[in-house]
Amino acid sequence: MIISVASGKGGTGKTTVSVSLALSLKDKAKLIDCDVEEPNAHIFIKPIITEEYPVCAIVPEIDSGKCKLCGKCGEICEYNAIAVMPDKPGVKGQTIVFSELCHGCGACMYFCPKLAIKEKERKIGLVQKGYRAGLGFIQGKLNIGEAMSPPVIREVKKRMSAETTVIIDAPPGTTCPVIAAINGSDYCVLVTEPTPFGLNDLVLATELLEKMKIPYGVVINRSGMGDGKTMAYCQKNGIPVLMEIPFRKEIAMSYSRGRSIVEDFPEYEKSFIQMVDNIRVYVEK
Ligand code: SF4
Ligand code: SF4
Repeated sequence: MIISVASGKGGTGKTTVSVSLALSLKDKAKLIDCDVEEPNAHIFIKPIITEEYPVCAIVPEIDSGKCKLCGKCGEICEYNAIAVMPDKPGVKGQTIVFSELCHGCGACMYFCPKLAIKEKERKIGLVQKGYRAGLGFIQGKLNIGEAMSPPVIREVKKRMSAETTVIIDAPPGTTCPVIAAINGSDYCVLVTEPTPFGLNDLVLATELLEKMKIPYGVVINRSGMGDGKTMAYCQKNGIPVLMEIPFRKEIAMSYSRGRSIVEDFPEYEKSFIQMVDNIRVYVEK
């Protein structure tokens, strides 16, 4: 079973919930950190890393000897990743590739009439595998300055197997990286906080999950602060509230020391295990 943990916005406690779920399940789980722009589950898991793989993206390389500066590649690229500068008096034109903007779609290579574009690989990040006690751990890391996280996320997911319960810590938001991370999940846990911003982003996240047809429930973190509108929204729309984590200074302090809830407050372990059991019943139905 694959459970992804997502949130419409950052800072809601998504990683807190992912890590706590994984640590509660112990050797019956694998934790996959797909928040590749800022992976931080490792701070709490403290895994022993045993394997590392580079992640490369395909980018075009121009053969200036063959290129006739026709401009076709620049017109075709949806992402403005190629610019063709025509010849000017006394200045030779050139075709320039902006690799960081390239999405590797291959359209420019396909349509170049002079076969002047080849593929080349460029390292954009890495995947690391490891463990803590019996808990399996995989994380992706996108290199600083790179914009394309989905290829790294896909490489991370290729290396997971769903034999055990897989917990995916997804990136925050509702854009392409989140879709890449949660695609294929059996269930999604949406972590939110009971504030107007939290509710606004929760609504966006639920709309995404409805479109992707992934069943979901909500964890309200820092329950007790803010207002009751998030709970009212869930009740009105028939969204299960899987758990409420109270707003407690001790939990925040524990987080700031790189400790998970279940390590410092073991009374929560039962609630996290129960949450997974309830999700399993729902998914198997
Ligand atoms: S399409 Fe090919 S020939 Fe035309 S500008 Fe681009 S690389 Fe050069
Ligand atoms: S591979 Fe696609 S995204 Fe990259 S430069 Fe060519 S057309 Fe643009």
